[in-house]
Amino acid sequence: MSETTPFKSLAELGEFGLIERIKRLAHQGSDVVCGIGDDCAAVNLPAGQLLLTSKDLLIEDVHFRRCWTDMYSLGRKSAAVNLSDIAAMGGAAHQLYLGVGLPTDLAGIELDNFSQGFLDEIQQAGASLCGGDTCRSNQSLLISVTVQGSVPATEMVCRDGATQGEALYVSGTLGDSALALTLLQREQIPSDFLSQRHHRPTPRLALGRALAQQGIASSMIDISDGLLADLGHILKKSAVGAHIDQQQIPLSPEVRDYLHLHPEDEALILRGGEDYELLFSAPTQRAGDIDQLSTQLNLPLTRIGTILSADKGLTIVELNGNEHQVSAEGFNHFKH
Ligand code: ADP
Ligand code: MG
Repeated sequence: MSETTPFKSLAELGEFGLIERIKRLAHQGSDVVCGIGDDCAAVNLPAGQLLLTSKDLLIEDVHFRRCWTDMYSLGRKSAAVNLSDIAAMGGAAHQLYLGVGLPTDLAGIELDNFSQGFLDEIQQAGASLCGGDTCRSNQSLLISVTVQGSVPATEMVCRDGATQGEALYVSGTLGDSALALTLLQREQIPSDFLSQRHHRPTPRLALGRALAQQGIASSMIDISDGLLADLGHILKKSAVGAHIDQQQIPLSPEVRDYLHLHPEDEALILRGGEDYELLFSAPTQRAGDIDQLSTQLNLPLTRIGTILSADKGLTIVELNGNEHQVSAEGFNHFKH
């Protein structure tokens, strides 16, 4: 942010001043023919590839609280949650579009920090900011991001490809983000590790791309709404059932220690959202390739279960050894 002069208020800068400011900070990739500043962006799509498009909304006091996050992290997260959807299809991210509804009490420095976080996150993914929309919001901060990417048509991984007998894998660890949120809601301060996992999720782009390119994953989804809910989407779309072994679900030491003291909160790992890890199915004979990929990417890839026929539904073996049927429900915005 050093090349730009600081500003005090949005009123001083105005819509177009703000757009200029974002434009000066944004670097554009060679695939961008026309970026910020015209009526539309124009970009080149890699020959023979499918265009992937996804959008996510982040609304103050629904998805985040301004008092719990710094604006730089919020910028990074706004980009990351969108990039994660591209990862889940096995694609590469190219362009992002940033819509913001800005409350007038937002300070210039906060906006600069937000923009810088957003741009740092997309630069890490090799993508460019190519446009957006900017307007005033009467109350909350609204962020609407669209991402576009691409994937060779023969490599795309959807939610509908899981078949009976395949193994179910998950990347990273689960429950970290939900535990951070739980602690914040109880007015406790999460550890740095848990905070990072909640406020700065990592989109698993390299993993998603490799699983697609090597033809390993038969179905895939990013875990935004919780393991059971997102697994539920795969099961429904693929018309299959599954069996999960709770003992195998990968946990960070922080979550493990916490659940040791608070076993009543075990839903955190099954139903807690926003870890943005990838959940995928793969033929059991690809286990060696998956282990190799895990070593290459320095990211745990853990088998947590098996795909079964649809009539088996979703069953889980709990830590105490009891097996039972579960409903694939996670966070639902319209349900209390
Ligand atoms: P229009 O009125 O044609 O929609 P705007 O005046 O809203 O155009 O936007 C001018 C240019 O600035 C467009 O290229 C648009 O995509 C871009 N833009 C507007 N807001 C943002 C933003 N928050 N981030 C990035 N680009 C933006
Ligand atoms: Mg506009």
